Amino acid sequence: MGLSPSSISFIILTVLVLVLMALTIIPVPPAPTPRPAIPAGKWVVVGAGLSAASFVYYVPPPIRAAMACREASQRFGGRVLTAPQVVSPVNTKTQANEFGAWVIDPVRHRRALSWLQQLQVQVVGQDFYTHPERSFVWKNGARHPWPAPPTPSSAPYGTLGPADADAWFAYANITQADAPKVSTTALASAVLPPTSVVPAGMGWTDVCLRGFGSCPVEYGRLLSGVRASPSAVTLSYASGEAETVQGAVLTLPVAAMGKVEGLPKAARALIAASFTTVPLGVLYCTWTGQEAWWESRGFVHACASTDTPLGRVTTVSGTVLRMQVSGAEAVAAWTTTLVRDGLEAGKAQVAAHLSTVFGGAAVPLPSAVSFRGWTGGCTFWNAGVDTRAARATLARPWGADVSIWWSSGDLTDSQGTVDGCVDAGLWSAQSVATSVQGLTPPPP
Ligand SMILES: Cc1cc2nc3c(=O)[nH]c(=O)nc-3n(C[C@H](O)[C@H](O)[C@H](O)COP(=O)(O)OP(=O)(O)OC[C@H]3O[C@@H](n4cnc5c(N)ncnc54)[C@H](O)[C@@H]3O)c2cc1C
Repeated sequence: MGLSPSSISFIILTVLVLVLMALTIIPVPPAPTPRPAIPAGKWVVVGAGLSAASFVYYVPPPIRAAMACREASQRFGGRVLTAPQVVSPVNTKTQANEFGAWVIDPVRHRRALSWLQQLQVQVVGQDFYTHPERSFVWKNGARHPWPAPPTPSSAPYGTLGPADADAWFAYANITQADAPKVSTTALASAVLPPTSVVPAGMGWTDVCLRGFGSCPVEYGRLLSGVRASPSAVTLSYASGEAETVQGAVLTLPVAAMGKVEGLPKAARALIAASFTTVPLGVLYCTWTGQEAWWESRGFVHACASTDTPLGRVTTVSGTVLRMQVSGAEAVAAWTTTLVRDGLEAGKAQVAAHLSTVFGGAAVPLPSAVSFRGWTGGCTFWNAGVDTRAARATLARPWGADVSIWWSSGDLTDSQGTVDGCVDAGLWSAQSVATSVQGLTPPPP
């Protein structure tokens, strides 16, 4: 039986209405806006310390692949310096010491600990700050109890697994036979080529190398000036060279950043008003053949905080004590003593100061001492600074529409620590990535 023309019209009308309804009810997804591709061209990270290493590690791979690093000095690491201490021509196998970053605090280094875990770097628990009965404070000529530890004793401080001098020598291509002829200063400043092949057991140097991966580093490039607009960023170097880049992440410490020409006036003024830098120095002393002589003087694997020129004394092993001094005067005094009067005078001074701390007891002369001073030691926010507001301005000193970031542990709430570097690196990696993707970056 055929359909009447009116039934056919009814069916067609119904289908049309249903199609129209479906079109209005079922939302049609908007055509996807094409994501901007990672821009071709160079991205540059300036400075080759831990802030740079953590930024390079966390930035997404396509941007990382376009990254190159420019470093003013002839070595990477900045305030990270793992170097072997050569004790004598017959004993070159002393452990490699940390002259910069050293200790991890379980409470304040959460981001750093997580990074170390991702890098598969070994952290060794240490109890020197968490055993008040073993540690003490030497002040105004008398011994006082160590103040209550800032962290629960179940959460020990940590250091990285002991760095291996042999691995260091092999990596720096220095033979053990040559090692005694090379001064500690030369060893400490030898240029290690960052590569993706990293020997284990090189302490914080190892961490820095792992962070950089295969990102190439060019040395001897001191950033002296920046010309920047929303469409172009040009970096100029003290050598007279200049390069125009897609974007730049500056990881300079506060003092260095304040010297960059072209920095907007407001940022320069804010830097001048916001920070104070305290010089630091690290002195390692080794006694060969006199295993833990200090235990018989009542100093058992622990830490002594002193107001002598030795600063804070910590046992590193049965034969090594590490002293960390702070303040321009103490740093200059040790540098002068060791440079002007020589190593033997330095050893005698160490023994004399230790004798004071151990109540006048005789102290054997160390067989080796080595010192590294840092004029730019650690930087702190001045009292009263609105740190959050200052960081928000300084993290993008040329403004949010210019592709320049200042990513430094010095700008964080964990200044003077590796954790601050990881904090800055994480944030700027996220901010660079979102900005490249055309999204609004999070606040710092
Ligand atoms: C003695 C000492 C002990 C410490 N102990 C600890 C510790 O136990 N635990 C802890 O968590 N932290 C510690 N710290 C702090 C830690 O070492 C630093 O916070 C960290 O290494 C800083 O890294 P950074 O990359 O921000 O800066 P830096 O390491 O200073 O790196 C900046 C880099 O930029 C380069 N640079 C500077 N100016 C320019 C320029 N104009 N152009 C190009 N390159 C430039 C520098 O040469 C350097 O390589 C210690 C620091 C010191 C000095």
